Amino acid sequence: ESRNAEQKEFLQAVSEVLESLEPVVAANPKLEELGVIERIVEPERIIQFRVSWVDDQGKVQVNRGYRVQFNSAIGPYKGGLRLHPSVNLSVIKFLGFEQIFKNSLTTLPIGGGKGGSDFDPKGKSDMEIMRFCQSFMTELAKHIGADTDVPAGDIGVGAREIGYMYGQYKRLRNEFTGVLTGKGLSYGGSLARTQATGYGVCYFTQEMLKSTKGESFEGKTVAVSGAGNVAIYAIEKAYQLGAKPVTCSDSTGWIYDPEGIDLDLLKEIKEVKRARLSEYAAARPSAEYHEKKNGEHGVWQYKVDIALPCATQNELNEEDAKMLIANGVTAVAEGANMPSTPEAVAAFQAAGVLFGPAKAANAGGVATSALEMSQNSERLHWTFEEVDSKLKGIMEGIFHACDDASKKYGMEGNFVAGANIAGFEKVADAMMAQGIAY
Ligand code: NDP
Repeated sequence: ESRNAEQKEFLQAVSEVLESLEPVVAANPKLEELGVIERIVEPERIIQFRVSWVDDQGKVQVNRGYRVQFNSAIGPYKGGLRLHPSVNLSVIKFLGFEQIFKNSLTTLPIGGGKGGSDFDPKGKSDMEIMRFCQSFMTELAKHIGADTDVPAGDIGVGAREIGYMYGQYKRLRNEFTGVLTGKGLSYGGSLARTQATGYGVCYFTQEMLKSTKGESFEGKTVAVSGAGNVAIYAIEKAYQLGAKPVTCSDSTGWIYDPEGIDLDLLKEIKEVKRARLSEYAAARPSAEYHEKKNGEHGVWQYKVDIALPCATQNELNEEDAKMLIANGVTAVAEGANMPSTPEAVAAFQAAGVLFGPAKAANAGGVATSALEMSQNSERLHWTFEEVDSKLKGIMEGIFHACDDASKKYGMEGNFVAGANIAGFEKVADAMMAQGIAY
């Protein structure tokens, strides 16, 4: 722990996983003999680099770029790139560590990695975004490849940024390969990748409700946070499954719309105009817009049946959890990575609320990215229905893997432990089989 003392988010993620793995380690002495735990918490490789670019005023700007290649035991490193001013090594290491287990849970052959930069895309022109992405890729290209490391999008990285990075990679390497996922449909992207994480969260939640209570989304009210890629498509799928999503948020404020979020309006504001949510309320009489203030419950203060945090880490704390519980929430599934604090998770579990942790509930994005890799390798395109039905099957499978693992170790209903254990077992097995060369 002392080696990484400054890495708060990373330590938070590791301590949650290691706690779940205690019974597994106790039952399998080989894990200790072969140093599996000590090895799995140490990234195989960390790359940190300077990203300099020229802004619209002709001024040189310098940002810091990262790629953490965490674990390649079961496949090439795979995980998104995040562009946000809060990015630092701790954040990227926490995300990369989580990614190992998430990728394993998908049952597809992908290892764990994550990257990004402290570059802030807000307020930047299209040309500035392009110049940044090209500079970022000029260094990153040396370390990635279709069979080595395949990055994707995350906060601040969507189809536009992936396009600029892909173009630069191709130019540097003179190679048209599936080195990034989340690509546009005209140059190797997969149908349903845009929707995959949000849809996947709902497929997971639906299976969790069905399997444990014989229930579904039908007729339920849903609180969603965020207004980005994950949130928008979680809202879309919740509607398709018969529920009513009533909230969303961005970094400046939140919307409560008791008549149900107007999805077309939300997409127009966030995907087309790239504007603030205050514009949503201005165009929609039934909605309330509130500026974000510290210490307020935001989207978590309303009476809902299901909560889907889809914005960022540590956005739902113990007090928020208690408020949701008092208002009768029955299921929570994490669309974002580690959005609930450890105290919030404990409160949900103590109250008997069904809780789907991020590495299981939001694995649909990376699963579909792996399907994009398959399509790129065979140089074919699958239909939307084909990809979507595979995604649904994968999410249902993930729920049952978590459920089964929780039962195997006497922790029935604890899907946090179940996800950690189920994700860990395959990676640990592969690491032991491959020897202790690293
Ligand atoms: P986007 O950039 O598309 O959207 C992020 C949303 O969260 C925006 O509404 C943003 O507000 C808000 N947000 C970001 N940071 C903060 C913050 N510090 N405080 C408050 N609000 C914030 O990202 P994604 O939807 O892709 O990602 C959301 C989460 O889902 C992340 O945790 C990501 O790691 C996770 N995830 C994403 C996957 C994917 O396929 N995209 C896959 C698996 C997990 P604003 O618009 O103001 O910036």
